Amino acid sequence: MVEKFDVIICGAGPAGATCALALGSSGLKVALVDKSNFPRDKICGDAIAAYVPKVLSTINPTYAKALADFTEKENVNTIRIVSPNTKTLDISYGVDGFISTRVHFDNFLLDLVKQLTNVKLFLHTAILDVVTNEKKAYVILADNIKLEASLIIGCDGEQGITRKKLTKTQLDPEHHAAAVRAYFKNVKDIPESTFELHFIDKVIPGYFWIFPLPNNEANVGLGIVSKSVAAKKLNLRQEMQRIIETNPSIKERFADAEMISKIEGYGLPLGSRKTTISGNRFMLCGDAASLIDPLTGEGIGQAIISGRYAGWQAKKCFEQNNFSASFMKQYNKIVYDKLWKEHKRNYFIRELIINKPKLFNALTSLLNKSKFLHNLTKKIFN
Ligand SMILES: Cc1cc2nc3c(=O)[nH]c(=O)nc-3n(C[C@H](O)[C@H](O)[C@H](O)COP(=O)(O)OP(=O)(O)OC[C@H]3O[C@@H](n4cnc5c(N)ncnc54)[C@H](O)[C@@H]3O)c2cc1C
Repeated sequence: MVEKFDVIICGAGPAGATCALALGSSGLKVALVDKSNFPRDKICGDAIAAYVPKVLSTINPTYAKALADFTEKENVNTIRIVSPNTKTLDISYGVDGFISTRVHFDNFLLDLVKQLTNVKLFLHTAILDVVTNEKKAYVILADNIKLEASLIIGCDGEQGITRKKLTKTQLDPEHHAAAVRAYFKNVKDIPESTFELHFIDKVIPGYFWIFPLPNNEANVGLGIVSKSVAAKKLNLRQEMQRIIETNPSIKERFADAEMISKIEGYGLPLGSRKTTISGNRFMLCGDAASLIDPLTGEGIGQAIISGRYAGWQAKKCFEQNNFSASFMKQYNKIVYDKLWKEHKRNYFIRELIINKPKLFNALTSLLNKSKFLHNLTKKIFN
């Protein structure tokens, strides 16, 4: 059985849902396919950048309004950086970012997509294969169901099938991180509207985080670049538990806390190298395109930005009836023009910290004194 569409979006996380929203007023017939049933979890720190409402409003101003009214979130406007020698630096922003579990946030985005009449959802439907040729693109589902379209947009994350099949690129430990997280209740002394990053000697340049959630809950985790995990022979789950149980500035705060989920881990494909993100009849977005910030580990905002650009580029493809690899390069340009400079700078900072971890203590003191460095840090974590 073959069902025909103009565009097939593979994956309905932030990248895929945003891409569908960007195609909402296009008149194109769109399929959005995800192997999960929503609401679904995605292992994450759940911190959503302050610029996200602005990006959504460029698609439709009512989406930013809907996000402002969305209640399953904890607003944050301050970042607390704690250095290995426990010096603390608080940096406040003018605008609120927020922490929202991915169960809630991704479902919020998908609910917006459900209002579109040109998008057909295939949930709980795993993609088994993707194929493109000169004339068409195909997505193969279970039960012998085949979807046909002019264009595929791969938004299926780190372990998705589109990157593997359409680009044949490999993940690279130099440009990849690993992270674990668990949900806790009743962690003590969580500062108001603040998300905390603790840079602890053994896990530098990664960090241990405590991100506040509604109902006195918190997302707690630990992430570090994969090459350092291998070099230091770290077991991240054990390391996270060790920090919670023994770190002098952290253990007291967890004395009465209850872990209300398992500690779970997942990979982060980092945007510190340019890779193949488009080709004949396809584009990749979000984690499928390796667009996570190499220092902060943020990828939700990048997924939303790239999903929007891919939707807009798809409209151009149909206007000009051009789905060639060379035409798709416009998408590469707009994505990397937006993200590359920042990712390159943050990769440079990360490498500096890896090679000279002691610098971190001096840097935190300096940051407390220098307005320039203070503002730079504000930029890095926004
Ligand atoms: C532990 C951890 C902490 C993190 N913390 C943060 C943070 O605090 N802030 C932040 O901004 N970023 C964070 N990130 C990164 C962030 O989670 C990702 O960048 C973000 O989820 C990327 O969104 P996406 O839409 O590209 O992919 P995903 O969110 O991974 O969505 C991909 C979708 O594709 C579907 N899919 C996959 N394969 C198939 C298939 N074969 N068939 C059908 N569907 C398929 C999946 O079910 C999923 O719904 C963290 C990552 C990790 C691992």
